[in-house]
Amino acid sequence: MNDLNISKETLDFIEEEEIKLKDIFSKIDKQAKDNSMKVLAGFQKYEVSESYFNSTTGYGYNDLGRDNIEKIFAYVLDGEDAIVRSQFISGTHALTVALFAYLRPNDIMLSISGLPYDTLHEVIGIVPNNSSLASFGVMYEQIDLVDNDFDYEKIKDYLKKNKVKLIEIQRSKGYSTRKSLTIDKLEKVIKCIRELDKDVIIMVDNCYCEFVESKTPLTVGADVMVGSLIKNLGGGIAPNGAYIAGKKDLVDLAGERLTCPGEGREVGPTLGINKSLLQGLFMAPSVVASSLKTAILASKCLEDLGYNVEPKYDEERADIVQNIIFNDKDKLIKYVQGIQMGSPIDSQAVPMPWDMPGYEDQVIMAAGAFTQGSSIELSCDGPIREPYIAYQQGGLTYEYGRLGVARAIEELKK
Ligand SMILES: *Cc1c(COP(=O)(O)O)cnc(C)c1O
Repeated sequence: MNDLNISKETLDFIEEEEIKLKDIFSKIDKQAKDNSMKVLAGFQKYEVSESYFNSTTGYGYNDLGRDNIEKIFAYVLDGEDAIVRSQFISGTHALTVALFAYLRPNDIMLSISGLPYDTLHEVIGIVPNNSSLASFGVMYEQIDLVDNDFDYEKIKDYLKKNKVKLIEIQRSKGYSTRKSLTIDKLEKVIKCIRELDKDVIIMVDNCYCEFVESKTPLTVGADVMVGSLIKNLGGGIAPNGAYIAGKKDLVDLAGERLTCPGEGREVGPTLGINKSLLQGLFMAPSVVASSLKTAILASKCLEDLGYNVEPKYDEERADIVQNIIFNDKDKLIKYVQGIQMGSPIDSQAVPMPWDMPGYEDQVIMAAGAFTQGSSIELSCDGPIREPYIAYQQGGLTYEYGRLGVARAIEELKK
């Protein structure tokens, strides 16, 4: 045992597995190179200078850095515009702001990727809440995926019979057992929707998917996309926040809802975070690559140790999330605890299953992160329900990510 409590046997195993992953890792490096070109071009196009790091307080009028950060995000994401703010408390908050900005009483919101992420259930009113969209008279309908793809027949049929205001598509699997949705699948379904309805707002929950592929939902025709800055695009450096990017009128509407009608995007002090947001975006292509490599390593190792994994190490990926299906409550808990033990922060803490606001089952979470709740940092969580799946994601550097996975494997062996 070394000082990290990882046996030589486990470290040797990891090294042997890494050799088998060389070709896949070099494809990921290529992706990071392409995305880095895009980010650097965005910085240069909008002439980032030290003055952008200046801060505003109070109302936050005339924040040059903030306004240009939003232009750079729009450029990088292939959108007309973007709103990127620390006043978004989380990804869920940004999704909530967008939904309340676009939907009005009697409108229909249709999810075509099945049940949305757990924290949106009370927002939509799937779980009753006095402040939900449902409480304002917004109707919600849902079409489930079939065989990990969209149910084209049901979607077409529904759109022919109903006037839908907004279609929501969640790419990452959330706490479900389905696969995450690649840009190719998204492109195909958007084409199909547009043949039937030119006006419906196509909104994509893009959490965990940024920089995994070169195209974004906006590249392939979505109207608006939403994501969190304590995930991929924050690069592990943004201290909080989220973004909404896409059509200018939709980004403006989101601004009017985030602050207030009439003030919209003109207000919003940055309180000193501009430099962190720029530096985070700058690092993001390579941090996402590290996260992908960490996920792929975990997939390969755990599969070879006899566990079911999704995706497999050599499968095409849409996001940075790795599932390990334990079919065993104790093993799930052990693995998550092992990830915590391999973390830089709070490695001495032992995570336990807990009730979390917004989640229906108890959840166990390993989060030995610099930023609270940051899941672009190596983190692992799982709802305590069958089939006891660990959802692992993140890894600021691959070198630390692999040590976290090694420590978790060590714990699993006990
Ligand atoms: C993380 C995530 C969200 C938002 O979560 P927050 O923790 O509120 O930032 C929404 N949808 C998906 C698919 C996610 O992965």
